[in-house]
Amino acid sequence: MRINKQIIPASEHTITPEAISDNALKVLHRLKQAGYQAFLVGGGVRDLLLKKQPKDFDVATNACPDEVKALFRNCRLIGRRFRLAHILYGRDVIEVATFRGPHEPELADSLGAHNQQGRILRDNVYGSLEEDAIRRDFTVNALYYNIEDGSIVDFTGGIEDLQQQTLRMIGDAATRYREDPVRMLRAVRFAAKLNFTMEQQTGSLIFEMGHLLSSIPVARLFDESIKLLQGGYGLRCFELQREYQMFDLLFPMTEESIAEQPETLELIRQALINTDERIAAGKTVNPAFLLAVLLYKPMLEYKGAFVHRGMHEIEALLNAGREVIARQQAYTSIPRRYALIMREIWHMQPQLQHPTRKRALRTLQNKRFRAGYDFLLLRQLTGEEHLQTVCQWWTEIQTKDPGTQQQWCDNLAHGGKKRGKRRNRRRQKMTNRPAPSIE
Ligand code: ATP
Ligand code: MG
Repeated sequence: MRINKQIIPASEHTITPEAISDNALKVLHRLKQAGYQAFLVGGGVRDLLLKKQPKDFDVATNACPDEVKALFRNCRLIGRRFRLAHILYGRDVIEVATFRGPHEPELADSLGAHNQQGRILRDNVYGSLEEDAIRRDFTVNALYYNIEDGSIVDFTGGIEDLQQQTLRMIGDAATRYREDPVRMLRAVRFAAKLNFTMEQQTGSLIFEMGHLLSSIPVARLFDESIKLLQGGYGLRCFELQREYQMFDLLFPMTEESIAEQPETLELIRQALINTDERIAAGKTVNPAFLLAVLLYKPMLEYKGAFVHRGMHEIEALLNAGREVIARQQAYTSIPRRYALIMREIWHMQPQLQHPTRKRALRTLQNKRFRAGYDFLLLRQLTGEEHLQTVCQWWTEIQTKDPGTQQQWCDNLAHGGKKRGKRRNRRRQKMTNRPAPSIE
């Protein structure tokens, strides 16, 4: 890698202190006043230069984590792989990283460590600004805004790549992917988010090296998957992940369903479009919903198999939910709190599909109703047209007062036993409001 240090003075680039968050500025200034070097780095600089709103602000300094901690009361030291300081301002977190140095093999035992495939396990070797730059992932992520004079320092040609809209791994891409295979997922995420083209090696090696992801802890893969799906560019990330044959490494059951039933793709794409829109509008999104979408068809396949073996429909659904989530945990972990919501969403589908007098009001009052209902609408919108009447019914009932809601539910068929059904039909004839004809 050719290192060519360039300094772009404040007068020749577009970042001004006003564009940087107050909290990040506070951190930068306090470090500077204490006599340390302090730079804004990573997505903060990259996105500001691209006139995008940065997701967060990262700071790099020559102060050690303990020295950072001594300067800030609101500081927590975190991380085992990289020891980092988090400066907390309510929910806003400014991440402060000490410059990282190169990996000296002789130091590997005490400070840094590689596993046999060359993956970095521990990484607490501190270094200079230049050394820090070449340890970063992509050239556009290694631009430093210097709080001292407002200049930007570029060692790796990041400014040029930014202008050319190129995502380029710093150094030898194969070595860097081997060190940390998650960089391949990051490559896909940034190419999608920035709409950049991957430099030839950066892109083509992913096909050969993607399988190395299997050595990464599933909890980290879960975190990365969520960043890919819920970073605001979920649809593009999903499509690019599939193009680079990475999606089936994380969600193999979903990829299989897509291959067997093309309509699965529509369900996922529409869910991602909705998620991207919600994020753009500043609304919250729960990872459980998208995960329920991704694993819905695989879950139905298990359910089908269980029913085939003689299990009752509902029991089969519950078991299939548990089974598919357990199997997914081998690829990406799924925290319990999300697994629970996913199963509730799935469990609610037949209840929403066939509302009965006995159950409909309870379904409406269920605290997951909204998620279950959104899921039902999504299914209807992406191929299950037979759900139209029942979707309409649930949409309308939500606009009614509690008395009318009760009445609507009373008008429904009883569900279940035959005798009940006959009696309900009689009752329905007597009321004006017809029960929905549910598929
Ligand atoms: P965004 O916050 O918009 O997702 P970012 O570039 O700021 O993008 P972060 O995950 O916040 O990404 O990381 C901050 C910076 O740390 C990156 O820009 C990069 O320089 C460096 N970095 C993060 N992860 C890695 C990694 N796995 N290998 C090398 N450098 C990394
Ligand atoms: Mg960041």
